[in-house]
Amino acid sequence: MRRRIVSPAVIALGSNLGDREANLRRAVGAIDALDGVTVSAASGMVESRAVKPEGVDAAAPSYLNAVALVQSELPAERLLDELNRIETEHGRVRHERWGDRTLDLDIVVFGELTVDSARLTLPHPRAWQRAFVIVPWLQVDPDAVLPGHGRIDALEVAASSEVWPFDAAPLLDGARL
Ligand code: ATP
Ligand code: CA
Ligand code: CA
Repeated sequence: MRRRIVSPAVIALGSNLGDREANLRRAVGAIDALDGVTVSAASGMVESRAVKPEGVDAAAPSYLNAVALVQSELPAERLLDELNRIETEHGRVRHERWGDRTLDLDIVVFGELTVDSARLTLPHPRAWQRAFVIVPWLQVDPDAVLPGHGRIDALEVAASSEVWPFDAAPLLDGARL
């Protein structure tokens, strides 16, 4: 029998178009439904202003974000394929960089893996400076370490007031850690 390799990964979810809460909720369900992928924990939802290449865009709809911890038997590139497919199924269209979107699914870390290819960079190179990733990630893994940046509770953005809690039912029914 082939030995299964299971890697713990962290996925950041975001939405600022359509029914944002439903988009995140359905995305967690779709990720958990993937063959070989299990969601072991999901953060609460947080809200923040949209950021565009030129800075905060107060005119754009604000974002809801969350973080999911998963156990993946899929290798990282295959997981990314599936996440891209789920984004497309949720109406994601790509126009400009950091444009408004129904759903964004980024792999923040994938086990200890370091990758820098045309399609995939791991760990995600901008996660360390994003409160909307670090704040919800801390909720589900207070001792998490971001390779190259150390403990995430020590990052400047961990104490940021740029994100605020969004009151919603839990993304996962019951704790599954
Ligand atoms: P950002 O990467 O700054 O969060 P974004 O999420 O808006 O920006 P997208 O347009 O969603 O960017 O994705 C651009 C490309 O990033 C994707 O086609 C994908 O191949 C690539 N990519 C590289 N590394 C990752 C990663 N760790 N997770 C998800 N996509 C990645
Ligand atoms: Ca992103
Ligand atoms: Ca993305």
